[in-house]
Formats: sequence, structure tokens, C-alpha cells
Amino acid sequence: MAVSGSVSVFGNAIQRVISRFKNPQKVVNLCFIVVFLFSTVLTWREAVVLEGAYVSSQRNSLDNVATLLDRQLQHNIDNLLFYRNSMLYALQSPISTDKTRKTLADFDALRTQPYWQLRLDLNRSLPMNGVSDEFVNNSPLLDRDEQTIHTELSSALELSYIMRLSHQTQTLPRRMFYASRSGFFLTSTPPPNDPQIVALYYRLVAQPYFSSQSPANNPDRALKWTHTFNPESTTGQIITAAIPLDYNGRWYGVLALDYPIDSLHTFLQQAHNEDHEGTVLLYDNELNPIATSAQSLPLHPMFTAPQLAQIASAVTAAKAGDEGELRMDSRFITWAKLNNYDGLLIKVHTLEEGVQGEFGRISIVLSVLWMLSTLMLFASWVVIRRLVNNMFSLQQTLTWRANYDTLTRLYNRGAFFELARKLSQECKQQAQPFSVIQMDLDLFKSINDKYGHSSGDKVLAHAAAMLSDAFRQGDVAGRVGGEEFCIVLPDTSLEEATKVAERIRVRINSKELLLKQGTTVRISASFGVSSAFEFDDYDFERLQSHADHRLYKAKQEGRNRVCHTD
Ligand code: GH3
Ligand code: MG
Ligand code: MG
Repeated sequence: MAVSGSVSVFGNAIQRVISRFKNPQKVVNLCFIVVFLFSTVLTWREAVVLEGAYVSSQRNSLDNVATLLDRQLQHNIDNLLFYRNSMLYALQSPISTDKTRKTLADFDALRTQPYWQLRLDLNRSLPMNGVSDEFVNNSPLLDRDEQTIHTELSSALELSYIMRLSHQTQTLPRRMFYASRSGFFLTSTPPPNDPQIVALYYRLVAQPYFSSQSPANNPDRALKWTHTFNPESTTGQIITAAIPLDYNGRWYGVLALDYPIDSLHTFLQQAHNEDHEGTVLLYDNELNPIATSAQSLPLHPMFTAPQLAQIASAVTAAKAGDEGELRMDSRFITWAKLNNYDGLLIKVHTLEEGVQGEFGRISIVLSVLWMLSTLMLFASWVVIRRLVNNMFSLQQTLTWRANYDTLTRLYNRGAFFELARKLSQECKQQAQPFSVIQMDLDLFKSINDKYGHSSGDKVLAHAAAMLSDAFRQGDVAGRVGGEEFCIVLPDTSLEEATKVAERIRVRINSKELLLKQGTTVRISASFGVSSAFEFDDYDFERLQSHADHRLYKAKQEGRNRVCHTD
């Protein structure tokens, strides 16, 4: 009981609030639009936060790989610089030991051979591999200078000890070597003493990294990266970092480190092996693909030429260590410039991977929640709108019924009396004339008796319609009894009111009314008219009583007439 009581109190309160608004549907619509916008903005905000978190996670993930790779590269480049400094130091202050003397003597004995190998102390050093005087003399880039060759060889011997020491198993396998312009080389992966030494040396000095270190090609004498690019081969490609060795104005040769593509590929696979986390690719400075964290080689082209151009324009102003992201078709691309390599690390995250990942799942849940809440909101909007519409029309019907008579659609007695009193007082204040017409249908009971009650109702509705059509704007009519009507006429004298009554009488009596097929009836009404001026009285009830007397008189005098005197 208590619950239903509080519900109905609550319902009434809502109804009161709704009734204050002219158009409650609009209020309901507005409320729901506000709620919808609010929930959408909240969801959108969540999505923005989520997107921010996704972008940082993509960056972080690429950052991890970039940092690992950079650390490896930095370590190797430091080694390379250390080797160069060691050789410079050795060139500046050469040492003379039994080993160096033996090395130089062996060299002098072997230097004309097509290939040779100085294999001293192989447990602790690396062999030196060389070609003949003739080979060197035939190449303009090479030069076996008699003044410096012995010093260079003893420096290289020192390096061979150091290189042997530092050649440990690496996370990122690489090959380090020194290729001399004097026709010999030292490598961390030494060949056997056989004719392939010639081919190997030839390959070393024929590579672009070597010629690009000449004083003309590298005036700054800086470290340079080259990518020996052969799209046909996956294993033949090599990334090389090279620095020149100069001393006393002479270019001695090139210290370099090689990364075979396979080793970079394996490195990326190990550094980036999370599920649904996309693919990390290494590109050289001309945006040629080098390696991928994807499981299989060869590299499939990930981007079309225009897409590569788009990436190139995004990274064009980037400095070492910079990173950024861009969206490309359905893929999310993150890129990072390495500190120790002039190429680019690119991470490609496809929509499919994104959907399967953590962020994708959260996004899906968020979207589903938003859709569900919107759906529920829409459903409740439909229900509440219908409810409010019903309440509104019910309220209007009740209000109308409280004031009007449903059969004749004129004011009912209560509402009419209230209005008539108000109008009479207004006329009194303004000293205007005020008249009342009382009307009663003639012999109406006989119509009821003869044709039935519903036909009587029809006659009543018809008479009321005639009445409404006949009086002027500002006049007010009401049904005050069964077949009795009253009209108040503000600002109207007795004579004018009598004319109005006469007009109504004629209208009512002029036409025959069709009750049912083949049955017509002509009705008439009697009228009594009174006015405030003749009694100097504006009291509506008394004026109506006067009009009723005169109506009675009209009945007495034979009906179907207007009486305005006592
Ligand atoms: P008179 O000319 O003297 O006015 O005769 P009358 O028959 O009209 O007078 P009386 O007052 O005897 O009859 C009025 C009748 O009106 C009585 C009643 O049955 C009928 N009546 C009152 N209200 C309604 C109504 O809403 N519908 C119908 N059909 N008849 C009604
Ligand atoms: Mg009557
Ligand atoms: Mg009557």
C-alpha cells in the first residue's frame, strides 16, 4: 500500500511537471538527446584516452626494439672506433718484437705470391690474408707503399690480437675486418689459406663501402653505412658500417663491420616476438627493406611506392632518436630513427592484429557497451514518449470534459456560470451593456418519446451547432439544463440581444433535420432575453432568472418566439 501510494504520488508529481510544459514530447526528446549526447561524449572521451594509450604502447613496443638494436650497434661501433685508435696508436709508435720481425720477413718472402696467409700465433691472433704485388699494382685504388707497408703490417698484427680477443658470441652476429689498400685484410671470420683469399680480398675492395671511404668520397672521414642491396637474394645482402684509417695524410684502408641480413632478421625476431603485436621492419636510408621480425623471409613488400613516399615525407625532418606514427589504410604505422644507424625502424600494426590484441578487445567492449546503452536509451525513449503522449492527451481530455458538455460541445453548466459571472463583472466595471439569452427547445419530450432518446440527442447536438454558428465572437454559450441553453452577450444591449435571439430562433426553425432515413423533423425553440441596463443589475444569476421568466412567457404565448419583456 505504502509503495503504491508513493508511486502514485511520484506519478502525480511527474504529471504536474509535464503539464507545465506546452509540449511535453519536446521536453522528453530534449532530455533523451542530452542523455544520448552525454553518454556518447563520455564514450568518445574513453575512446580518445584509449587511443592515446594505444599510440604510446605502439611507441613503447617499437622503442624497446630500437633501444636493443641501438645498444648492439653502439657497442660494435665503439669496437670499430677502438680498433681504429689502436691501429693509429700502433702506426704512430710501432713495436718491434720477434713476432713482428717474423711477420715482416714472411711477408717479404710471400708478397709476390697470388695469395698468402701469415699465420702467427693462431691461438691468440687472427691470420693476415693477402694478395700479390701484381694484384695491387693493377688497381688504381690500391697502393703497396714501400715506406709504410712494414709499419702497417705490424699495426695490423697488433689489431689481429685485439680482434681475436673481442670476437665473442654476439646477440647481433657481425663480422669485423680491416681491408688495407696495400693488398691484405684481416677478418673476424678468417678464410683458409687457399685461392679464395684473392676472391675475398677482391670482393672487399670492390664493395661500395670501400671506395666510398676514399678522401674524395668521404672528405669528413666519418663513419658511413652502406647497404649492399640485392633484392634477388636474402642472404647475400649486407649492411656495413665503415670508417677510414688515415695517418700522416695517407689513406691506409678501411675498418668495417658487416651485418648479414640473416643476423638482423634473427635479431628482430628475438627482440619482437609478442603475439598480435605487429611486425617490426628495418629499412635503410633509402627506404629499402633490410630485415623483418616476421617469421619468414624473403621480405614481402609492405608498402606501395606512394606509401613509401608518404613515410619518407613524414620522417624527412626527423633527427636520430626521433619517432612518430601515421595511419595508412587500415594499418597503424610507428617509426623510429635509430641513433647508431641512418636507416629507419618501422612497426606495422594491422587492424586484424589490433582487434585481436588487448586494445582491440577493450575497444570492442566499449563499442558494444555504447551500442547497448544507446539501444536501451532508444527503447526507453520510445516507451516514455508514448507514456507522456498518453498522459498528455488524457490530461487534455479530462480538462476538456471538466469544462465542456460532450454531447453539444458547449460549456457545461459549471464552467459556463463561472465564465458568465466573470464577463458580467467585467462589463460592470467598464459600464458596458450586458445581456443574457435563455433558450429552451419546444416540446422536446415529444421528440424523445416519438423517435427515441438517441434521436433526441441528435436534435440537441444540432440545436447547439445552430446556436454556435449564430452568435458573435465574444458571446459565450453553455448548456445549462437538459434542453436548456444560455448565452451571455457582453457589450450588447437588450435590443441587439433580442435580434441575436431572433436570428437563432429563425435558424433553428428554418431547416428540417434528418433523424434517420425517411424521417425528418422541424424543431423550434423559445427564448427569453434580459439585460443588465433595464434592471441596473449585473448579477448574472438574477439576470438569468429574468430571462427564464421571459422564456416561460414565450412558452405561454405559443412557443417558437422571443420574449424580452415581462
Ligand atoms: P416545453 O416546450 O414546455 O419545454 O416542452 P418540453 O417537452 O421540451 O419540456 P420538458 O421539460 O417536459 O421536457 C424536457 C425533456 O428533455 C425531458 C427529458 O427527457 C429530455 N431531456 C433532458 N436531457 C436530455 C438529454 O440529454 N437527451 C435527451 N434525448 N433528452 C433529454
Ligand atoms: Mg425544459
Ligand atoms: Mg423544452
